[in-house]
This record gives sequence, structure tokens and C-alpha cells, in this order.
Amino acid sequence: MQKYRPKNSQGRNPFFVLMLVAIAGAALMLFAKPDLNLFPPKPERISITELIEHYKADELKNIIVKDNTVDAESFDGAQYRSIKEPGTTIVDLGLNDPLKRARVEIIDTSATEFWTNLFVGAIPLLLLIVLLIFLFRKAGSAGGGEGGPFGFGKSKARVYDGKKHTTKFIDVAGAQEAKDEVVEVVDFLKNPKKYEKMGAKIPKGILLVGPPGTGKTLLARAIAGEAGVPFFNVSGSEFVEMFVGVGASRVRDLFKTAKRNAPCLVFIDEIDAIGKKRGNGSGGGHDEREQTLNQILTEMDGFEPGTNVIVLAATNRPDVLDQALLRPGRFDRRVHIDLPDMEAREQILAVHAKNKKFDATIDFKSVASKTVGFSGADIENVLNEAAIASVKTRSASISQKHLDEAVEKVSMGPERRSRKISEKEKQIIAHHEVGHAIAGHFTENCEPMHKISVISRGNALGVTWFLPEEDTYLKSEQKMKDEMVSLQGGRMAERLIFGQTTTGASNDLERISRIARAMIMTYGMGGKTLGPVVFAEMNRSRGIFELTEKEFSEDTAREIDREVQSLVEEAESLCEEILKKHEKELRLIATDLIKKETMTREEFLAYFE
Ligand code: ADP
Repeated sequence: MQKYRPKNSQGRNPFFVLMLVAIAGAALMLFAKPDLNLFPPKPERISITELIEHYKADELKNIIVKDNTVDAESFDGAQYRSIKEPGTTIVDLGLNDPLKRARVEIIDTSATEFWTNLFVGAIPLLLLIVLLIFLFRKAGSAGGGEGGPFGFGKSKARVYDGKKHTTKFIDVAGAQEAKDEVVEVVDFLKNPKKYEKMGAKIPKGILLVGPPGTGKTLLARAIAGEAGVPFFNVSGSEFVEMFVGVGASRVRDLFKTAKRNAPCLVFIDEIDAIGKKRGNGSGGGHDEREQTLNQILTEMDGFEPGTNVIVLAATNRPDVLDQALLRPGRFDRRVHIDLPDMEAREQILAVHAKNKKFDATIDFKSVASKTVGFSGADIENVLNEAAIASVKTRSASISQKHLDEAVEKVSMGPERRSRKISEKEKQIIAHHEVGHAIAGHFTENCEPMHKISVISRGNALGVTWFLPEEDTYLKSEQKMKDEMVSLQGGRMAERLIFGQTTTGASNDLERISRIARAMIMTYGMGGKTLGPVVFAEMNRSRGIFELTEKEFSEDTAREIDREVQSLVEEAESLCEEILKKHEKELRLIATDLIKKETMTREEFLAYFE
């Protein structure tokens, strides 16, 4: 990888510059004061009256008056210095007697004063300039090292040489449809003439849509790798700067460089950082983004036939993009990359396993089945964590145990065994987790419980891990209700056993409310009063569901609240019923769990056989 930056952008050591300034200053002083004697003999300090007396006695050979200092040299070589009152002249002091032999000289200091003042005045200014240059350089290098104060408008694109970089389609596991969609782009970049001859237009812009970590950047790199063309990689957020116009100038610079290197591929990651719907901001806060976006549009519109630059952009929020970006001739083609399914996960594991050493226990199929909802990046992370764990345990190779632990670490955070938890709290946590497991087990549609643990992980004090047996794309109303029942399990178990609930259930309640609100407001699963009307939009961004409410009346809001509440209460009473019925098992399993710390599905099921 190489970075485009001016050669001289590395800042020189500021202290070196300061030293230079100091030396120059000293030289200037010497130049300005040629009479400056660095080591003059020390004159004897006497009062002005004494000096006048020496004068009157005609013992003095020379007198030099410089400002208020009167220096004198006697015929016998003695040196005197005294200070006169400011403003008094030699006439006032009586040093103008023509009968005396002393030669009186008055030195005009105004010229040297000018230079001294200039120099003294210039030092702070010089220091300020040096400091500013230093700060600008720092800011420049922090933002990607783009040539100091004057490099703001330069594009920060990272460039990969197409002939040298080796990412190919084979490195992108799964995502077959996405690869199929882009093969013609590769062919076009390889043989643009073939398409030009037929008058075929190849899309200028392709939008890669998918959750983070699903391999959008990887796919873009693979396209460039397959075609053997340079690849310019820049993130949308890198265009956005403090100053209006900088982003636009960076876009210009990027496209200029790209055109010079055509055929090539420009990849803009996180295009939503600049491509959000325009015109909804008040005040001038959106100016910079709008200008940047406009510049991208202008550049893309300005591609002449034969400009073999293809722009790829990635986003996980196509819904927020400005319509202008999606018009024909711009990013008019979309390629979706979804989270990998079971088969794709196994393939991704195989791709990233290439440079690692595994023992015979390894079973990628089982890892793939335990990683539902993981992105490609998460899976890569699992393998890396497993490799680190194998080094830590000084194993010769990575085992299945390492992999299983890595899956848990990536999905739930690292274990925090150092956290000291009291016996009483351990009891509450164990009953809480077993409550989830039992409530989930006795509903029809909950995912199977995979593991329960009372070891703290990340922010959680205990974990009950439900794992789907296969990838599913739809959720039924009943499944959502059952999930709420199992989520209620924790706090209902606390209440049943200890007579009250704790703050440990706050996250459960949040999730329950979110499910209930989504059912009522988005999926039309409400009661008769509201009916199948959508009151909120569901966005799946950054892996979690977000509800964006639409406008509705206060009456509707009240009705929504009522229905949400009734769903939550329904789940609560169902859960209570289940736990009361299985209180004996709840107590037994919780006691066992405290001893064991973790419990597998099989161990749990044994209690109900
Ligand atoms: P995105 O751009 O979608 O956020 P990236 O392309 O940056 O995701 O993916 C991050 C990393 O995850 C990649 O560098 C790659 O190692 C791994 N990865 C993601 N998807 C895949 C895949 N389909 N095949 C192989 N590796 C993948």
C-alpha cells in the first residue's frame, strides 16, 4: 500500500528550527552593533561628581557619552563608568571646557536601537510562526499526513497498485450473487475497448449495500485485483472537515488522480457520511457535506465516454442516501451483501484458516452453526482470538476448544473472572439465568438454549445463550411473543425466589419493550384498535434495530402504549406460570449452576427427562 503525499510533508524538528532562529538572532545583534565587545575590561564604577572632579583636574583623556552612561579613560589608563541623570547634557555637567585636554565623544544610539527593537519585537512573532507551522504539521499528519497546512484540499485516498495487490474473488467467501453481479465490471476494466465498440454503457457507480464487516471493501479490492487496475480507497468521513470546501476540493483531487490512472476503481466507504438526504438541515451546518456531495455528482456526471473509472460506494444505510446519488448515471446499480449464511460462514472460516495451524479436533461446521448473525469480519476475529488463545495456552495448534471459547468471546465479550461477586449475588444471578432458560425451554418457538453461565462477560453478570439451529429470515408473531416470555424469565425468577426484582433485569426489560413496540408499530401485530398500520420505520443499522417514529396523534400514542403494555404483561404472566410450575427444577439447576459455573444444553435437559 502506498499513500499519496507530497515528499516534503514530514515536519522538521521544531527545536532545530528554534535553534536556527536563535543563532540568526545572535548574528543579527552582532551585525547591528559592530562596536559590541563581548568581553570588555570592567570599568571602575564612580559617581558623576567624582568623574567631573577627575575632568576638572584634567586627568581624563577620553569621555564617551552613550545614553546615560558616561565612560571615561584617564591618561594613566584607568577606566571609569558613571551614570548621569537622563536629559542632562555635557554642557549641564560642565564637560565642555575647551581648556581641558579630554576628548568628549557622544554616541548616537538611535540607529542601533532601531535594530535591537526590531529584533526584540520580532522574536515573539518568529516563535509564533514556528509554533503555528509545527501545529499545522501535527494536525496534517494526524489527519492522514497530507502535506501540512496547505495539504487540506488533497485527497487522502489510499492507493493499491492493481498489478501488485493480490486480493481476488477467491478470497471473498460466500457472497456468490454479489460476485456474479460484478464480474462484468471486472471484464470492462480489463477490456474497455470491447464494450466501447459495441456502444455498451457500463455503470459508472455501483452501490454496495450491507451490514458492516460483510466484506464490501474486500469485494471492491477483489474487483480491482481481478482486473489488475489501481484501487483508490477513501472513506466518506475523510472528506468531511472543519472548513467548508475542503471536502469538495478533496473530491476533485481524488477524481483527477483517478482519471490519470484510468482504468481504475475508486472505492468510497461509508458514503452515507456525505451522501445523506440534503436540504433537511437548518442553518449552515450541512454546507460542507452538501458541497462535497455535489462535487462527487458533478465529477461522475462529467465522465466522458472512455473515462474508465468506476466508482464503488459502500453503505449500510441506503435508506438515508440522497435520491440524487441514486439517479441513473450515478450509483444506479445496487449490489447487496448480506450477513453470511451457514455455508458461507464455513467458507469464510476456510479462507481465514489458511495460514493457521489446527489440530484434528477442529470442526468448522459446528463453528459455523454457532455463529448465526456473525459477519465475515466477526468470523475472522473468532479465528484470530482462537489463535491468540492457543499461543497463550502454549498449545502446538488451535483446537476446537479454543475456537468455541473465541466464539463466546466475540459474541458476548471477554470473561471477567476477576470480578468479585458475593454469595448472595451469585444466587440471584444463577436463578435469573436459569429463569431465562426454563421460560425459553417451555415456549414453543424460542431458539434452543445452548449454554448458561454465571461467569461475568463484558457488562453482563451471567449469560443464557440461545442459538438458532439454522439461519432464518422471518419471525412469526408467536416467536416474538415467546422471546418476550423467555426474556421475562430472569426477573420473574428473581421475584419468585427472592420476593423482589433487581437492576440486573434492566437490559431484559429494554429488549422486551423494543420487541413489543416493533410488533405494534412496525409489523402491524397490534390489537383491534390500531390494526395493521405502520407507526414507525425499522432500520437495521450497525447490527441493532432502531425505530424511527412517524407522526401520529396523541390518542394513537396512548393506544400504542396501552397495547405495548398489554403485550409485555401477557408475557410476564405466562412466564410466571411456567416458572411456578417448575420452581423445583429452577432451584435445583441454579444450585448446580453455581457449582459448575457453566452448564450445557444436555446437562440442563437432563433435569426434565
Ligand atoms: P465492510 O467493508 O463490509 O465493512 P470489510 O470488507 O472491511 O467489511 O471486511 C472486514 C474483514 O472481514 C475483511 O478484511 C475480511 O478479512 C473479512 N471478511 C468479511 N467478509 C468476508 C468474506 N465474505 N470472505 C472472507 N473474508 C471476509
